[in-house]
Amino acid sequence: MPSLKEEILQTIYKVFAEWSIGFSFACQKKCAVCCTQNVVMTALEGEAVYHLIKQTGRELWLAAQLQKKGITGRPALTTNDFAGVCLGQGQSVESAQSGNMSACPFLENGCCQIYEARPFSCRCFASVQRCSAGGSAIAPEYYLSASTAVLQIIEHLGQGEYWGNMLDVLAALSDLSPNQQVAALLPATFAAQARIQLLKAKPLPGFLLLDEEKEQISPLLDTIFSRQVRGKTVMAILNGS
Ligand code: SF4
Ligand code: SF4
Repeated sequence: MPSLKEEILQTIYKVFAEWSIGFSFACQKKCAVCCTQNVVMTALEGEAVYHLIKQTGRELWLAAQLQKKGITGRPALTTNDFAGVCLGQGQSVESAQSGNMSACPFLENGCCQIYEARPFSCRCFASVQRCSAGGSAIAPEYYLSASTAVLQIIEHLGQGEYWGNMLDVLAALSDLSPNQQVAALLPATFAAQARIQLLKAKPLPGFLLLDEEKEQISPLLDTIFSRQVRGKTVMAILNGS
């Protein structure tokens, strides 16, 4: 049975997918220039990947793909840390290293092999023009702001747990008791080395929305916060009531 937080995560994914239907993105199956190792996520999202791997009996495959991880670098700030700095609630930190732009090891034959459980960073990445290798995705500013706001909510949901590069989070979770079948297939220090690269997810300090974006984005946030999960609204659960 999924945990309460996993149910909320799936609710957020669903509401965002419904909200983003109205955009005319060029994204299609097998278009995957954007699928690099430069993806961040929370431990909660990592657990969803492990559930899929267990359901499909692919522990050996996951261990092999994780070992294709390149040098990822430790992010300087989580999304909520960054928002806190922008809102005057924290100190700026220089980024130590940029993200690894080599191909994501979960991409095979142009398709994501963990598609049903891919993290929100992958779900929201989209472009109105087909991307070229090394090029940038193009999306409306308010779509990018909305995606960042949802990333912040998901980080809040996973606060206190690992936050960082997707492959490092999965490696770090590998030696927890439910996932030890994967850890047994990895080098002994693999999980411990990945943990060094990770930060802890932080509570939401506030959103970074421009006044002119609020009208377009508020319906999305209001829908997320008002959805009912196990008889309570997401807002009430996130507030601890
Ligand atoms: S973001 Fe760019 S590379 Fe990725 S699916 Fe969309 S168009 Fe293709
Ligand atoms: S997890 Fe899937 S969607 Fe995300 S970057 Fe990797 S292949 Fe692409």
